[in-house]
Amino acid sequence: MANTHLTKETQNMKIGDILEARERIASIVNKTPMIQSIILSEKVGRPVYLKLENVHEVGAFKIRGAANKILSLTEEQKKRGVATYSTGNHGMAVAYVANKLGIDAVVCISNRVPKAKVDSLKRLGAQIEIVGDSQDDAGVRCYELEKEKGLTVIQPFDDPHVIAGQGTIGLELMEDLPNLTDVIVPLSGGGLLSGIGLAVKSSERDIRVTGVSMEQSAVMYESLKVGKPIELEESETLADSLLGGIGLDNQYTFNMVRQYMDDVLLIPEEEIAYAMAYMMDKHRIIMEGAAATGIAAILGNKIPHQTGDIAVIISGQNVDISILLQLIQKYTADEM
Ligand SMILES: *Cc1c(COP(=O)(O)O)cnc(C)c1O
Repeated sequence: MANTHLTKETQNMKIGDILEARERIASIVNKTPMIQSIILSEKVGRPVYLKLENVHEVGAFKIRGAANKILSLTEEQKKRGVATYSTGNHGMAVAYVANKLGIDAVVCISNRVPKAKVDSLKRLGAQIEIVGDSQDDAGVRCYELEKEKGLTVIQPFDDPHVIAGQGTIGLELMEDLPNLTDVIVPLSGGGLLSGIGLAVKSSERDIRVTGVSMEQSAVMYESLKVGKPIELEESETLADSLLGGIGLDNQYTFNMVRQYMDDVLLIPEEEIAYAMAYMMDKHRIIMEGAAATGIAAILGNKIPHQTGDIAVIISGQNVDISILLQLIQKYTADEM
């Protein structure tokens, strides 16, 4: 994992793709707030900022990539409709964007996806197909629909338009934080990290990118370790939005994450749980487990460098509220 500035095109993606994405999605996606967390800044002795990607209407950043991809389709493709498979937030983003643009959307999901997410998908007007135990099973069904009905499959991460859409976060970070030196990015398929990485490494500034995943089933981490995309069994985690493979035929994100990620941290379940309860208690911010991995890295003082501003991507808030309540009860009995 090299710590280098961008010197050449990566997979033919350029900073211009992200600049274009920003204009394209402006009618659907608002710039999100950046707030300083005083309590976390005191904890680590340097400014910690929260990039609030939880405040989008769908409760997660994935609206950016979905909007950029769907708005780039031809009129003919839009008429036939779109399909997607996802652990929830990407599906919700696709449903939301399609609905806004008057395009039909089918979402294929596995039976592991939490009930809160299924209900939200239905409310957004998507057709739901529940298949199998994993995101991979849902993916197979999705490609059947592409063959049978001519729907366009909207990839959750391994697509240049999706990556460029997520990369718009990187532009906003650099605009808002002139002293930014570290970005903490939840990592699953790597679309979020690839986009932010491309954005910040294309600048003249020295900004480090740290990926955070849960300890179990961290597919990108294990794939980078062996040097090629691999598959892993999915296991239960509070960070359910970080589950799912990266695709054995990964085209973009494996290489982009390899190029842009300076460090990677794996977070144990108890620390994810504690971070979720902590943020509710101290900040009144609802975070799903995936987003809490970044806060856990801060709380555990795991960011290896000493100076400059840290931005943590608060990637989403879509957690079953009963799970969050249990965690709050569990941890507020202790000293937080
Ligand atoms: C999808 C998602 C991630 C990870 O994004 P990738 O592009 O798959 O790495 C992180 N947090 C939340 C809330 C997500 O929905």
